[in-house]
Amino acid sequence: MTDKPMKILVINDDGITSPGLWAAVRALRKVGEVFVLAPDRQQSGVGASLTLFAPVRVNPWRLDLEFQSPEPHSPEPQSIQGGFHPVTAYSAEGTPGDCCILALENVVGAVDLVVSGVNSGSNVGWDVMVSGTVGGAVQGYVRGYSTIAISVASVSDPKYDIAESILELLAQRLRENPSTAVFLNVNIPNVALDKVAGIRVTRLGNRSYGESVRQEGGMNEKRYWIARNRPSGEHPDTDTDIWALKNNCVSITPLKIGLGDAERIAEVEGLVGDLPDALLARPD
Ligand code: MN
Repeated sequence: MTDKPMKILVINDDGITSPGLWAAVRALRKVGEVFVLAPDRQQSGVGASLTLFAPVRVNPWRLDLEFQSPEPHSPEPQSIQGGFHPVTAYSAEGTPGDCCILALENVVGAVDLVVSGVNSGSNVGWDVMVSGTVGGAVQGYVRGYSTIAISVASVSDPKYDIAESILELLAQRLRENPSTAVFLNVNIPNVALDKVAGIRVTRLGNRSYGESVRQEGGMNEKRYWIARNRPSGEHPDTDTDIWALKNNCVSITPLKIGLGDAERIAEVEGLVGDLPDALLARPD
């Protein structure tokens, strides 16, 4: 155990004015120095996407001690402290993945922990494929840092008090056990603390939501809204994150990188068959 304060990066996908982001900052500044680099607008659903064909502008933000009314403040960054570890914040004109990369590679440098969230809305099962909360967090984990993506399971009136407590405790545990980097996807039921049925370490479930499409507009222009609001109807296995949330448990899921399905290599070799000969054989 070390007494050295941690250096913690906080990113999100709901944007720098999202209350969930500042809930994370409130909790984490008790454990270490906090740097925020968050998108300047709503970026939910962008997954792991990056901005590669345009420059990404970064602006320092001015903070008050309660984080009630953060505002852009170019050009000098400014830390505030108020009895806790210092907090410094920037917004970026980019995706959560952009924010994480810019912070770790340039604006902030090396840290001890990356936190993405607190997101408004759950990110369970295959939601992690479209989640900007998880997609941005990936950039911390692939750089060798312990990384926590954290979400509260409601987009309307999310309560962040349990997320704050969990974040503070997890950050302290990671500070005491710094040896191996972990990638954790944490989901919190949106209920009062006395309604929480437990904390479960889970595996990623299957699809939790399907998409629906709503059309609007008249004869000359067709516009469509995509929403992820169709519960899959599957009965989730009891060891999954989806089951845990449905049963009012906090879910902590270890994640790794990779979609590969090594078990099907032989099957696909059969499918490919003599394709290499057919493709490469010279007819002359
Ligand atoms: Mn979001």
